[in-house]
Amino acid sequence: MSDHSERDLLRELFPDTARELFGDGPSSAPRPALGLYPVADGRLALVSGDQLAEFTPLDPKFKAALHCDLCHYTRSRTEAAFYRVYVAARRTRYVTLCLGTEACVQRAGTTGLTTLAGRIFPIEPITADER
Ligand SMILES: [Zn+2]
Repeated sequence: MSDHSERDLLRELFPDTARELFGDGPSSAPRPALGLYPVADGRLALVSGDQLAEFTPLDPKFKAALHCDLCHYTRSRTEAAFYRVYVAARRTRYVTLCLGTEACVQRAGTTGLTTLAGRIFPIEPITADER
């Protein structure tokens, strides 16, 4: 699969996210190699090379302290959130992440991001119909 068609796939799956991260055209600025970025509707986008996963926030029913899966800080219920990630058509993973994404990513550093990406990727391409 060429780089171009992978990017097209991402645009199809996550049009808003892809536009935000990759720009509107194939000749736009280089995309980030690794990162976690807030996108629309409270979701987060994890990018690793050509791969992109979207984290959808959930509302857990309990009020226990949470352990961030990225920076590994223990957070209160108001400082972190559960996210669901589709890794295949009918397979999901759940991660806990701080709400302050930028500070969390800074605490975690590249090592933390790489570890998180290793838990999420590779994801099987899924179409919007299968979600
Ligand atoms: Zn964190």
